[in-house]
Amino acid sequence: MPLGVTRTYVKSVDVGRFPQVRRAFQVTRCNQCEDAPCVAACPTAAMHRRQDGIVDFDKSVCIGCKACMAACPYDAIFINPEDHSAEKCNFCAHRLDVGLEPACVVVCPTEAILVGDMNDPASKVARVVGREPVTVRRPEKETRPGLFYKGAHQATLDPLAARRPAGGLFAWATQAADRGPRVLSQRVTSGHPRHPSSSAAALLSYDVPHTAPWGWRVSLYTWTKSIAAGAYLAALALVLAGVLSWSGTLFRWVAPAVSLAMLAVTGVLLVWDLKHPLRFWMMFTRPQWRSWLVRGGVVISAFGAVLVGQLAASAAGSVGASEVLAGLGLPLGVAAAAYTAFLFAQAKARDLWQNPVLAPHLVVQAAMAGSAAMLAAAEIMGVGGAVHGLQLLLSGAAVAHLAMLVGETTPHHVTAHAELAVDEMTRGRFAVVFWAGVVLVAAAVSAPWTGAAAVPLALVGLVLHEHAYVQAGQAVPLA
Ligand code: SF4
Ligand code: SF4
Repeated sequence: MPLGVTRTYVKSVDVGRFPQVRRAFQVTRCNQCEDAPCVAACPTAAMHRRQDGIVDFDKSVCIGCKACMAACPYDAIFINPEDHSAEKCNFCAHRLDVGLEPACVVVCPTEAILVGDMNDPASKVARVVGREPVTVRRPEKETRPGLFYKGAHQATLDPLAARRPAGGLFAWATQAADRGPRVLSQRVTSGHPRHPSSSAAALLSYDVPHTAPWGWRVSLYTWTKSIAAGAYLAALALVLAGVLSWSGTLFRWVAPAVSLAMLAVTGVLLVWDLKHPLRFWMMFTRPQWRSWLVRGGVVISAFGAVLVGQLAASAAGSVGASEVLAGLGLPLGVAAAAYTAFLFAQAKARDLWQNPVLAPHLVVQAAMAGSAAMLAAAEIMGVGGAVHGLQLLLSGAAVAHLAMLVGETTPHHVTAHAELAVDEMTRGRFAVVFWAGVVLVAAAVSAPWTGAAAVPLALVGLVLHEHAYVQAGQAVPLA
């Protein structure tokens, strides 16, 4: 393995206080899950489950989207810094295929690792799993791990049970944040930063740092996509409300052009974020349809095609064609705004994103971003009626966004993971960004009175919110 990444490592936790103390160890690696979320999320089936149950990977078709990393609740996957493809423990499948045991089994001096076929009642593994008390990591994730621990301590199994040592100074390692602004660092330090869920005075003594898979480009993508979907939808809403006409410049040219331009920026950000950007086309040539990256790619492409058609209809002066295309553009615009909620929900590792109201919230955010962008255009063009309508839409969407935020952040969350993510967002590492976003959007509520001044408030406030939300969701240690 290259330095800095690992397929497997031994985590250790000091439990108790001197002299009543013990050190608990745990070999930490991929669990070969039966219901593997990494497989469901992979857009090209590079991450796949073999007939024998081993979850393996094919580097030749990995596009480096990191969706599998976002989905794995055990942080078992990493991007190999040398070939830029996703990788993890695959049970040494290449060795098993030729009748050898995995390398870790061979080198272990005490036979602490057993590998075998659980369906074969005569195998040692089947005997141990069937008769001894064994446990798995994070069963609440319902991934049905194929890796069982015998005698493991809860303080090592639960990633939030042990306290993070002060300053990231572990017994045999240091986990410092990356250089640069903390809010842009993707480093996730191990252990609970404040109040561990175990009362057994557990302190992490060795663990490896992990990296949040999706950085600022993904935060920015959610924002540009909101503008892309919202600009068209906001203009269409005004047309349907009778404020704008089908043949007006704002709907015929400006809205589809703004949407198309922001959709293009969205596409550039998505491809830029891939570790293998030149392989992005594989999402369409060998799609794995359960992946919301693939489904979202189809939605964005279809929405883009409708926008191109809308511009073509405008060039041809055909109002009828515009009306027909609007029948497709409305559901596709809503889908383009909302599908990210399903993409994030597929990231099973991130409890903050398992939020049933995220889809409507993203539509509200699109309405806010789109009406702000179109308000700027209407002010410049001096379209008085549209200005008033867009001001009201912007103000209403900003109020709805803030109300939904209150709903999402104030109740007690059902998991410790979600609770800690909200804490990181509202009081921890991303608090300044989050609250700046809240204050700016709250100021944008004044759009009916302040007019164009509300545009930058809403747009900057929203991009700050997106960054805090996307990054806080990934800031909780998983291993
Ligand atoms: S979800 Fe994680 S632990 Fe489970 S098979 Fe995939 S990589 Fe392994
Ligand atoms: S990085 Fe993307 S393409 Fe590669 S294995 Fe993971 S999900 Fe599949």
